[in-house]
Formats: sequence, C-alpha cells, structure tokens
Amino acid sequence: MSKNDFDEFQKQIQKLFGKNAQMASPFNVESKAEEESIEEEPEDEIDVFEKVRNFNLKPREIRDELDRYVIKQDEAKKVLSVAVCDHYNHVRRVIEEEDTLGEEYAKQNILVLGPTGVGKTYLLKCIARIIGVPFIKADATKFSETGYVGRDVEDMVRDLVKAADDNAELAEYGIIYIDEVDKIAAAGEKGQSVNGKGVQINLLKLMEDADVNLKSQMDMMGQMESMMGMMDKKGGKKPRGTINTRHILFIVSGAFSSLAESIERRITGSKIGFMSDTQEETDTADYLKHVETSDLVKYGFEPEFIGRLPVRVACESLHSEDLKKVLTNSKGSILRQYEEDFAGYGITFNMEESALNAICAKAYKEKTGARGLMTVLEKLFRNFKFDMPSTEITEFDINEQTVADPKKALKELLNLNKDLHRKTLAVEVAVFVGHFKNEHDFKLEFDESAISTVIDLSVESGKTIRTICEEKFKDYPYGLKLIAENTKCRNFKINKDVILFPDKELSRWVVERFQKAPEEPSPEKEL
Ligand code: ADP
Repeated sequence: MSKNDFDEFQKQIQKLFGKNAQMASPFNVESKAEEESIEEEPEDEIDVFEKVRNFNLKPREIRDELDRYVIKQDEAKKVLSVAVCDHYNHVRRVIEEEDTLGEEYAKQNILVLGPTGVGKTYLLKCIARIIGVPFIKADATKFSETGYVGRDVEDMVRDLVKAADDNAELAEYGIIYIDEVDKIAAAGEKGQSVNGKGVQINLLKLMEDADVNLKSQMDMMGQMESMMGMMDKKGGKKPRGTINTRHILFIVSGAFSSLAESIERRITGSKIGFMSDTQEETDTADYLKHVETSDLVKYGFEPEFIGRLPVRVACESLHSEDLKKVLTNSKGSILRQYEEDFAGYGITFNMEESALNAICAKAYKEKTGARGLMTVLEKLFRNFKFDMPSTEITEFDINEQTVADPKKALKELLNLNKDLHRKTLAVEVAVFVGHFKNEHDFKLEFDESAISTVIDLSVESGKTIRTICEEKFKDYPYGLKLIAENTKCRNFKINKDVILFPDKELSRWVVERFQKAPEEPSPEKEL
C-alpha cells in the first residue's frame, strides 16, 4: 500500500467511524516496526520449531510408540507411520533447502475410514505429539461455502495457528484432522450438508496450496490490521499475517457406514443375515478396507477431491476383547482415570475379571467403540463417586453384579458398613453441636435417641448431617435467646421429639419459660 492509498483508506475509515477514528500509519513508524518484529520471535519458539527441523524418525519407531497407546488398528498404524515419515522427511528437506523442493512435491493427504470411537482421532493426536507439531480436529459438517453464514474452511488454519501458540511458522507444518467428511459427499448418507460439493472444492484448494489470512474476514479490525501489514521478514514474498497450507498435513475421516454396506454387498453378493445384530453391524464396518476410488466417487465425492487423498486406510471395529485391552492395557486408559479420582479420597477399588468382561460386553452393545466404555463406566461409577467419599470405606470390590445393577450393589455395600458409617455420622452431629456453640453460645446436648434419629434421617434422605441439623435448628438461635433472656439458661437437652418436631418443641419451651416465674439467676442453667 502506498502512502496515498493509506491516506485514502484513512479517509474512508473516518467517514465510517467519525473523525476520531485514527489508523496507525505504517509510513512513519518503520524503525519501530522493525524493532517489534525482532521482539516478536521469542527464543522458545525457535526450540519448538527445532523438533520438526530435526525430524529423523523411522516408520517402525512411530508404530511402536503408537502401540503403547492405541489398541489394534495395525494397518492404520503402519500406513499412517509411513505417510507421516514421508511427509516430515520432506518438510525437513524443504526447511534445509529453503523451500526449493516445495513446488513439485505431491502431498500425501490421508483418508481414514472407520466407525466411531475406534481410535482414529487418538492415532493422529498421538502422531502430532510424537512429531511435535500442532494438531486440530474439525468437523466437516460445520463448514459452509464461502460467503454463507457458518464456519469457513480457512478457520481451521487459523485454529491451527492458535494451537501452535500463535507460532504461524510452526503451524505451517501442523496436522489438520477433519472428521465427518462422509457427510459432505453430494450423494452420501442421510443428513448430509446440502452444500457438500462447494465445501469439497474449498477444502481442495486448502489441502493443495493456499495462503490463508490469519485474520478472518468476519474480524473487521483484523482485516484492517492486515491491510496495514508490512512485508514479512523473508524477503517480502508474502504479506505478514498469512500462512501457507502447502506443508500442512490434512487427514480426513468418516464412518461411511452406508458405503461399508454397499461394499459388503459388492463383495458378498448380498447381505448375510445369520449373525446377531451387533456382530453384523461391526463386520459391515470392516468392509471399508476394500474401498476403491470408484466407491468414493459413487458415494458423492468429487474425483479431484478424492484424488488429493492418495493414502487411504480403514480402522477396524473394536470387539469386546479389544475393548478390554483398551480398558486395561493402553497407556492413559480411562479406568486409570477413575482409579485416580477415587484415590483423591483415599479409596481404592478392585475390579474383578467378571466385571471387566461385563463392562466390555455392555460397551460393545453401545456400538460406539471405545466411547461405549466411557458411557458404561460413567453409569457404573456415578453413585459410587457421589456417595463413597462421604463414607469411611477405603476399599471396595466391583464384580459382575455391580456392573449389572450398580445402585443395588452400592446400597448393599453401604449397608454392610452401616455401623462404621453411623459412627462417622455421629461425629458429624458432634461437629454441628460445636459450630452451634461457637456461633450462638448455646450448648445443644443431644441424647442417644436424638443422635440416632438425625442419623436415620441422613441415611434415608442422603443429605448430610449438617444440612439436616441446620434445617431443624434454623429458628433455634432466636428462640433460645428469648428463653435465655428470661431464664439465663444456655444448655438445652435435645431428644428425639426435638428432631422430629423442632418448631413445636421450641414453641413449647418458650411458652413454658414465660409462664414460669423468673428464677434466681445462675451462671449456667439447663433446660
Ligand atoms: P474416533 O475413531 O471416533 O476418532 P477417538 O479416537 O476419538 O475415536 O476415540 C475416543 C477415545 O476412545 C480416545 O480418546 C481413546 O481414549 C479411546 N480409544 C478409542 N479407540 C482406541 C484404541 N484403539 N485404543 C486405545 N484407546 C482407544
């Protein structure tokens, strides 16, 4: 932008926003801008970038690392490891040779097919972490064609920069994972987006080689800033504030369930109808490994779009036995999370083999892969997590029956530890008495019947002793003060009737005290 252009732009801005709207002119702050650009690159950014620059992993090394986290998916691990190594070896050479190799290289963007919850995202997240590049996941159904309301495909690139802590240079070598891509096929499954073809075309440009403005078009201030932007440090080739997508690795994925059915029909001639419902569905998903380009085009993808996804791999469905491994073997398994949650209260649980089998069988029926495990575990542990921390139980067993009916099992467990539990609740009554004395200077002397009644109420209602006592004695500070003024009495005996009918008992006390002639004052009297 020339100085004249800038002046004209300034005038337009003032027309729109009034005379006070001032844009910082880039024509008299050059030296300052230079200083700022030096400051903009803190030292640790260089360290982050170093990992990509020195990439030297072999496919087997990546696969072995993935094996520590992800169960099954051997083919996907292999294919992804090779594709990722090729890509980042190329990236390293591009960096070494200052971009001269970039032009002709055909990027190996990847299509991952497979049912939900089998580890597609997890694999890519692990890979991004191993390589040390930023990663984001996007949902293809959220995009609309450029110019329409909704998210623009370019927003993904801006999100990637955010994921790279605003290090645009590192983001240029990041990984973008786009899920639910089957929903943008023009003739695909039910519920697909109507503008699928347009979104595919936009994605195509992005996957190939595009300069994306770091400020969204919706962000007006951002647009103005970038119009004011200076040329970047690398010889002024591209305006600062854009990021190029040539070396970003794109992975798109989808469940493609109806495509799996049609491949199954093609291969088997007709659908097999002898297996159980769940078996049949899972096996159908596994036909995706036979996918061919023509299947995808027939499904509704533009041939150019599919052509930009040369690497294709299908993830397998997870059966009950696999789910058991996910639960117990994989690093960072969700069972471990529950163990840690309970350990926070000093509680441990022992999961019997029968319970593990029952959990996995239930999770498998959910048909949501490993996500089913989360649903089943949440249901299993929900009431335990709520009730156990308030008991003195420090260890409990989980067996098949617990999984079948967690509520019943918890009730039985609490019942078994009833005596111990009542003792703790009795201590809580004493704590309430202490608080009441500190706050109001009246001593409440609970007899056995009163303690027992409060504990019964707590056990029946599930409310804490404190909540019950505060509710029962809410009018007592005022009532007891009236009595104390007349009688000097500060100690009060609490029996079962007071707990059951607190208002009635308090009224009776007040009336009785007023009817009685005032007695000789004594320092501490009891009622
Ligand atoms: P999707 O295939 O739908 O992308 P995800 O990768 O998001 O599924 O899986 C959800 C979660 O389930 C993961 O974060 C991980 O904890 C667990 N999970 C899924 N598949 C596997 C697997 N094969 N091995 C280990 N954990 C898995």
